[in-house]
Amino acid sequence: MKIVCIGRNYREHAKELGNDVPTEPVIFLKPASALVPAGGPIRLPAFSGDIHHEIELVYLIARRNGKAIADRVTIGLDLTARDVQQQLKQAGLPWEKAKSFDGSAYVAGTYAEVVNLPEGRHIDFTLSRNGKLVQQGHSGEMIFGVEELIGHVERYMHLETGDLLFTGTPAGVGRLNAGDILQGTLLGEPLFELRVE
Ligand code: ZN
Repeated sequence: MKIVCIGRNYREHAKELGNDVPTEPVIFLKPASALVPAGGPIRLPAFSGDIHHEIELVYLIARRNGKAIADRVTIGLDLTARDVQQQLKQAGLPWEKAKSFDGSAYVAGTYAEVVNLPEGRHIDFTLSRNGKLVQQGHSGEMIFGVEELIGHVERYMHLETGDLLFTGTPAGVGRLNAGDILQGTLLGEPLFELRVE
């Protein structure tokens, strides 16, 4: 199983970090060891003083008749050591230390079947921190849609059943502090509540 992530897939988020809007998808990976166990907690690592929340639509991939499809969708957190990422970006180095550490990914356990969603319906999602809405977005705001992302990723790496695809975060990312409570919703339904330690 692999976790494929897309960076800078929402215009306002690319801008808030001072990045250009990309002309093709930005891809990076997290290992399976990055996953936070169901129900949390999120543990802030000692090596960073600036772990950011990024709420994202996460698609569970299935491979049918030789074709990778976005079978089911949920929400997840792409936790990012922003201080470390800034240093790596400035030095032109890969992002793994900032993006792929133990506990850097959370995936809610409840999925919606993509085929059952009304055609043309945008898949909306939110993140609240300590009861305050901090991020909201929907699939229609993605620069590259999920089909396009799958096609692009597969130019470089085969997607298999069980792989996860994080599709980028909308604006509103920010620092987590010990004691924070994070709540995520998908299509108006609460899917997770996590404590930060
Ligand atoms: Zn992200």
